[in-house]
Amino acid sequence: MDKRVVIIGGGVAGMQAALALKERGAEPVILEKEERLGGKLRDWHRLFPTFTPAAEVLEPLREGIARAGIEVRTGAEVECLSEGGAVLRGGECIEGGATVICSGFDVFDARIKEEYGYGIYDNVFTTVDVERMFNEGRVATAQGGVPQRIAFLHCVGSRDEKVGAHHCSKVCCITGVKQAIEMKEMFPSAEIYNFYMDIRMFGPGYEELYRRAQLEYNINFVRGRISEASQTIDGRVQIKAEDTLVGRPLKMTVDMLVLIVGMKGGSRNVAFAGSGGLTVADNGFMQPQDSFLGNVSSGRKGIFYAGTVTAPKNIGESLNEGVAVAARVASYLGL
Ligand code: SF4
Repeated sequence: MDKRVVIIGGGVAGMQAALALKERGAEPVILEKEERLGGKLRDWHRLFPTFTPAAEVLEPLREGIARAGIEVRTGAEVECLSEGGAVLRGGECIEGGATVICSGFDVFDARIKEEYGYGIYDNVFTTVDVERMFNEGRVATAQGGVPQRIAFLHCVGSRDEKVGAHHCSKVCCITGVKQAIEMKEMFPSAEIYNFYMDIRMFGPGYEELYRRAQLEYNINFVRGRISEASQTIDGRVQIKAEDTLVGRPLKMTVDMLVLIVGMKGGSRNVAFAGSGGLTVADNGFMQPQDSFLGNVSSGRKGIFYAGTVTAPKNIGESLNEGVAVAARVASYLGL
């Protein structure tokens, strides 16, 4: 069978899959729509729960790809699947013996939750914006000031009936805790509040970091959802919430409101499903063959998955799926 494997997406799962496939004797080709490999991790500064710089994960992968001489097509946007691969925008077909879809997820568009004022009020940000500010080395209010009070709001675009997203994005509680700690380190006198529905700390070291956030960094965790935000005359943000543990309404003014945005299924999933005979799950992510022995298989001959295209996952899980899918594809190709 053709040893060429078409990998759609050059994020961490796609890069890891390509490296593992190359080791097994396949000839992977990575199709990446952006101009550089790395996916969303390119915009991330440090990783939870260890505060490891994102570059320490990305660079070895990129260097490995270059060293192994793996073919990479950047600026290659895949429109749909073909019989044995993918069709790029412009019509070019890239084909091989198998296809691995590693096209990842989309970040929830916070503007949809109009009540929080993202894109309207100057000092409402998302976790993606904050990570960009960390990368740029400049965190400040929109007016250029030092924030004295910062609120984080969990579950924006996840676990929310109103936006049709019932799923938990899994990694955003720990992202909110990590960023709250980083803010506190940057602005030791700032008061920081995290508003949550539940705190979900599923991974190793996550619960411990959550405890440190409270005990060492004095970060306040308030159980309750912010119902609305409005801008004050001096450009700050007034928020209204209910503290559901004490059953009291709460109003406060903050210098920055950070919306902890969740993951949603990728916008190309429907096109992939339509052209490849695949299934998009109710939550918008691709449906794997099953959640156990077939979680990197699509159920269609020659089409496989790795990473967050099938569900929210952290970086470690996505990397592991890159290795797992390579084993499955190698066995399919008889390598
Ligand atoms: S991980 Fe936390 S913030 Fe993210 S959707 Fe789940 S409960 Fe909400």
